[in-house]
Amino acid sequence: MGSVRVFQREQPEERMEVELVSVGTELLLGEIVDTNAVYLAEKLSELGINVHHKTTVGDNTERLAAALRISLGRSDVVLATGGLGPTEDDVTAAAVAHVVGGDLVEDEATAEKIRSFARQGGPELLDSLLKQARVPSRATIVPNPVGTAPGFILEQDGKTVIALPGVPAEMKAMAERTVLPHLAGLAAKEGSATIFSRVLRLAGIGESQAEAEIADLVRGQQNPTIAPIAKRFEVHLRLTARAADKGAAQEMIAPVEREIRKRLGDHIYGTDEESLEMIVGRLLREAGLTLGVAESCTGGLIGHRLTNVPGSSDYLMASLVTYSNESKSDLLGVPSETIREHGAVSGETACAMAAGVRAAVGADVGLSVTGIAGPGGATPTKQVGLVYVGLADEAEVSWEEHRLRGDRAMVKERAAQMALWLLCGALRKRSGSEERQ
Ligand code: ATP
Ligand code: MG
Repeated sequence: MGSVRVFQREQPEERMEVELVSVGTELLLGEIVDTNAVYLAEKLSELGINVHHKTTVGDNTERLAAALRISLGRSDVVLATGGLGPTEDDVTAAAVAHVVGGDLVEDEATAEKIRSFARQGGPELLDSLLKQARVPSRATIVPNPVGTAPGFILEQDGKTVIALPGVPAEMKAMAERTVLPHLAGLAAKEGSATIFSRVLRLAGIGESQAEAEIADLVRGQQNPTIAPIAKRFEVHLRLTARAADKGAAQEMIAPVEREIRKRLGDHIYGTDEESLEMIVGRLLREAGLTLGVAESCTGGLIGHRLTNVPGSSDYLMASLVTYSNESKSDLLGVPSETIREHGAVSGETACAMAAGVRAAVGADVGLSVTGIAGPGGATPTKQVGLVYVGLADEAEVSWEEHRLRGDRAMVKERAAQMALWLLCGALRKRSGSEERQ
């Protein structure tokens, strides 16, 4: 096999490129979702490593070998997942050996591990599992702390092939322990020593609008880079700098972050791993305020998100799912005339719910949601996706109207996001005005 020609760089690239190959016929049949690639793409982007291609191939040696050859022709590193198991359709090791022009050889340590694992299972099990110990010659084993299938790393002619098992838990454990640190090392060797990322998290704004505000910054970016990422109902901006050390990278990010905050600061609620519910919780705690929530169309989603934060019992008194008109009246004291005159889905009802839950559970702040999640329930004047969120504190009661897109699940989730965002804004305003006093 003419491996040398295939492996030569076509164009010297400045930055290392990794590409992903997902192996599995199940993926092509739409039976499973390629969460491995999603996970790896995200982790590599966090490391500031370029990923320009991703390929999915079935469990077929020739087609996989062909795909690997193409990938190795254009990228520095090919990272494959799947097809390392003991069965006939697991062909990744063979395909890699085919492409790099070597044989499969048994890795003694892996074989030993499999033998001790399979002692109870009889000779057939052992035979099939031992196949997993056969990896391309010259490959370095990536240990599998969770299962028997090992992964491997193979370097040749300045290119790297990495293969990991398809089972997500095994793949992740091996990526975290071995592969990602290895790739971070390779990336650092060819450029600056450290890659550091910071994520700014935005709510209440769409991706295109956020991007438009910073288009000039994104256009001219090099180091640090700015990557806008559309998340579920929010937008993240990942700033990544390469520098000699972490401190220097942070210094490079700081002025870019300042400029972005100048333009989008109202929408930036947190950084890195901070969720909206974490920030809301922190603001409530800092202000010494308690919260009561009355949910209708969100069916408990807001309560679920708020209680995902450890220690939330310090500020969350209750989140009541008041779904029927009667429960809105009986539990929250919403006057039945309000519902009759304006409808259960109305600003007036949202206000009465927010004020009602505040009083009912003895909280400082009341938050409410009522809306039409669909697909039924629309009226000539009130369409699916019409949602009202209400907010009540000691001084005032207010509401916001939203027209949300999507199916039932999406409207529910978006409505929960809108409610938390409204609460977050009010708490931020409050803490800002207190600071100024
Ligand atoms: P095994 O030892 O279990 O055979 P393997 O390395 O051969 O592992 P596959 O047989 O390709 O991997 O896949 C095993 C299981 O892992 C699949 O049935 C699927 O549930 C999951 N899986 C494989 N690839 C992916 C992927 N890209 N994303 C998400 N899940 C995957
Ligand atoms: Mg398999």
